Formats: sequence, structure tokens, C-alpha cells
Amino acid sequence: MSASGPPRALPSPTFCIIPWVHAFGDERGRLRPCCMTLGDTERVLENTDPAGRPLTVYDPGSLEAGWNTPFMRTLRRDMLEGRRPPVCRRCFEEEDLHIRSYRQDSNETFEAHIDRAVAATAPDGSAPIDLVCSADFRLGNACNLKCRMCSPISTKLLIPEWQQLFDVPDGHPELEALRAVDWFDGDAFWANCQARLPTLERLHFAGGEPMIITRMLDFLQQAIDEGHAHHIQLSYVTNLTTLPERVTALWPAFKGVTLTASLDGHAPVNSFIRYPSKWDRIDAHLARLQRDPAAFNCTKVTVNTTVQAYNVLSLTELFEYLFTRHAPHVVVYPRLTLLTWPSCFSVQVLPPALKALAAARLRTFVARWEGRWPDTSGELDRFRQAIDGVIAHMEAADRTAELAEFARRTAVYDRSRGQQARVTLPDLAPALDLAASATVD
Ligand code: SF4
Repeated sequence: MSASGPPRALPSPTFCIIPWVHAFGDERGRLRPCCMTLGDTERVLENTDPAGRPLTVYDPGSLEAGWNTPFMRTLRRDMLEGRRPPVCRRCFEEEDLHIRSYRQDSNETFEAHIDRAVAATAPDGSAPIDLVCSADFRLGNACNLKCRMCSPISTKLLIPEWQQLFDVPDGHPELEALRAVDWFDGDAFWANCQARLPTLERLHFAGGEPMIITRMLDFLQQAIDEGHAHHIQLSYVTNLTTLPERVTALWPAFKGVTLTASLDGHAPVNSFIRYPSKWDRIDAHLARLQRDPAAFNCTKVTVNTTVQAYNVLSLTELFEYLFTRHAPHVVVYPRLTLLTWPSCFSVQVLPPALKALAAARLRTFVARWEGRWPDTSGELDRFRQAIDGVIAHMEAADRTAELAEFARRTAVYDRSRGQQARVTLPDLAPALDLAASATVD
């Protein structure tokens, strides 16, 4: 709902403001309408040049070149005329399940832009690129971690282990292409970003790990030098292992900064999944952000937790940690994201007895905090619903047939990293035993 009253009527029931106001680039630097849109191998659902090559965010002038392609014009016309664009299927599927979609969130966030966007649209669906006020760039696959459920698309550190996992020889073209991703270090990408600075209101960086990308910090300095920082709200998804001192000289010049810290467990559980992160460093960075928010101009720190087989039995330890470290500006209720891929790491692979144990621990936790939940951040209802959602999702399907693959990947990662799942996550032993006995049979 808008701050000034009831939600405005949209131009059509399928309207989404995103293709008018938002620029998005994924880890491979492909220009897409947003992080929710689907791609496909036939390129039917992709934004391509006339030769059928995917458009990027890093070729000179590519944001302009990609703004009014037949793909983008059709997308806008579909939305204005009440059709569900195929590339937006994920949003509409969520809405059909009564889950709030990115489309709905975006229409609310950018409500003030809707009338101007529609008025500026030509009958063929073309729209001026100067409407862009929001950008979201995934800065490649340079990351200092190699989380177990991740892939080389997001961290090139995983490439050697993926070669072991899937028996891929050296020199495989796809992995070599991922090893070579460096577009985020090139001048053309940052020049494309610079051209959008005058109208930007929101700028989001994720990765990889954005805090290790020096060019990102240089770009912030450029935005300051050119007088644009004050109208831009920055946001990041970060693993919080790195918080460069330089940001304290940059972030205060911006309108505000929000951080989403990806944490998948407390202490050893996080280090096990998000290897080789050091919990002490994450804890110290979180403490510093809480202690001195003005130094970082950081108005909000949110935690995002990817719920998976490795952590569902110990989630409550992370919740306790966040609750007891609560500070007014930190959102203590983590967002819970259900892992669906790779499916062998899903909570649904666990045998029934472990699912029951995980559900019991979550329910006990909720009962114990009833009546004394921390804070008034307004996030409590969403958090409680998310816990119910984890339990419902866990019980909705039986994927124990994938336990063997779960155990196989766990063993490969354990060997390569010098870790031991049975030591760090002893609750998982029955699942690993079951996988071993099934393999013997
Ligand atoms: S409807 Fe959803 S997927 Fe499509 S552009 Fe909007 S937010 Fe993105």
C-alpha cells in the first residue's frame, strides 16, 4: 500500500514497472529485465541483439542497445495489455500460490514512476532509457568463498571441486569460460553504469562477493565526485567476511546503505557450508555495523539464510545468536530462502525421522520465544510464516532417493576441504548412514 492511501490502479492486471525503470545484469553479465526472469537455451526468452547473441551489461553502449529491442518492447506491451509474459512466469506462479511476488513489491516500490512510465511509452512498446532509476548488478563470479550449495557461475573457486564432482577434464569450454569471467573489471561496464548515474535512485550489487571488487569502490568514488551519490540508495548482498575500511569514506556520501548478509548457520555450521569463511570475522563485522551505524551510513542489516539439509537441524542456534545480539537498526529476523537447487541439498532429502526432529526443534523454538519476541521491526509475522513454510516444504515431498547424491557430494567436499560432516553436523549421521547402507545394498 502506498504511504498516501490505497494502492493505485495498475495499467493492467499483469503490469510490472520493472521493464521501464530497472537495469539488471546477472553473474555472466547478461542483460535481463530482472533477477526473477527466466532464461532459456533457445533464447526465445532472452534479450538478444539482431544476430541472436545475448545482450550484456559490459559491451560499450549495451544498456542503451538493449533497452528497446523487440524482446523488451514485446514485454512492455504484454504488460500493458494484460498478458502474462512467459519470461515472467516465476512471479505469476508465486502470485497464484498467494505468495507476494517481486512484481508486486516492485509496483509498490516504484509506484511514483508508473504514470510517467506509461505516458512515455510508444505504441510499439519503446520507452526512454532515462526512466531507469534502479540498477542491480551481480558482479561476476569472483568470490572468496565456495559455499557447498553454490556453483561456478557464482564463485570460480568451486571449479576444481566441480571437476572432481562431475568428472570434468581440464580445458572444458564451459568451465574455462567461467574461469575467465572478468567483465566487471572492464572499463565499458563501469562507463555504462556511469551513464545512468544522473537518474539512479537505487543501486544494488551482489556477486560473487561485491566487497572484494575494487572497481565497485572506485565507481562509488566517481559517483561522489560527479555529485550523484546523495540521490542514490545503495544495497548489497554480502557474505560479510570482508568489510573494506574504504567504505567508511564512501558510503556516508550516499543517501543510505542497506546490507543483506548471507549467513547459513551459527559459527561452525556457517564455516562448514560457506567455506572457508571465519566466523570471528563475520561476528566482528556485524558487531562493528551495530556499534557504529553512522560510520557506514548503514540503515539496515538483514540476514538471509538459505535453508538446506546441512542447516535445518541447527537453524535455531543462528536465530538465538541473532536475537541475543539484537541492536535497534539490525533486523534480527532472518529471511529464510528455501534451497531448491541443487535438489540433493534440499531439506526434502532428509529421512522422515530427521525431518520430524528439525520440525520439532523449530516449533519448540517458536513456543519458547512466544510473548517475548525481540523488537518491533514488523518482520515477526513474516518470520513466523517462513518457519511454517520451512516445515511445510520439508514435509511436502520425499527426496530420500537423492540421499546418495547428497552423501557423495558431501564426501567429495569433506575430502577436498579437510572437513568432516559427521563431526561438525553430528545430527546428520543417520542420513549419511542411510545413504551408505543403500549404496552397499
Ligand atoms: S513480472 Fe516479475 S519477472 Fe517479470 S519483470 Fe516484473 S518482477 Fe521481473
